[in-house]
Amino acid sequence: MSTISRRGLMLVLSSPSGAGKSTLSRLLTDTDANITMSVSATTRAKRPNEVDGRDYFFVSPARFTEILVEGAFLEHATVFGNQYGTPRKPVEDALASGRDVLFDIDWQGTQQLEQTAKDDLVRVFILPPSRDELERRLRTRAEDSAEVVAARMAKANDEISHWAEYDYIIKNDDVARAHLELQSILSAERLKRRRQTGLVDFVNTLTRS
Ligand code: ADP
Ligand code: 5GP
Repeated sequence: MSTISRRGLMLVLSSPSGAGKSTLSRLLTDTDANITMSVSATTRAKRPNEVDGRDYFFVSPARFTEILVEGAFLEHATVFGNQYGTPRKPVEDALASGRDVLFDIDWQGTQQLEQTAKDDLVRVFILPPSRDELERRLRTRAEDSAEVVAARMAKANDEISHWAEYDYIIKNDDVARAHLELQSILSAERLKRRRQTGLVDFVNTLTRS
């Protein structure tokens, strides 16, 4: 029987829309076999390049309410007029089996996880290098209309105002460096003593005379 030597952690990425959460999430999950992305449910319309079940579970408002009433969301929030929620079961299963989970969620969801899962939580806020660059990224992503881009820029101040509620801050100027910084945070957090649940038995084998 294999023993679980470490409890999984919950790595949360938040930022104003367009700062690079999805890009960094993809890089991290592509290069680290022990972290998986939490796939949220949303009532937002699917973007052309998105895949149902990979990027989000795209659900109707009625279905979202059903899941909410069942208590099957770990956290949920309304962002830009759409509802978003994290399905509870995949996260709990992953953590219990020592796998880490990556979340791309906003400050409201992060605050809820802080209430319910403080010890498992590592919060990272991604800042863009400048406001102009943030707008440029939202435009060049070319997945949203000009109105949606304008709405997201208008909401950027709101999201950024929560930066000090996070444990780590990464300025996503150069994407390779930001990726490296994120990997460093994950490596260090995995080594935290309280997460290494198998350590007592191991240390006992070292001190047995
Ligand atoms: P978010 O998930 O935070 O909304 P995305 O990851 O979708 O942001 O990034 C928005 C756009 O900016 C995408 O087109 C992405 O390719 C680009 N981008 C992300 N990081 C960088 C970076 N460091 N330099 C230049 N462009 C970037
Ligand atoms: P987008 O529509 O660009 O994919 O996401 C918009 C915002 O919703 C982003 O700030 C993203 O982090 C947030 N978001 C996505 N999924 C969830 C979720 O399950 N819960 C919460 N609280 N926010 C989410």
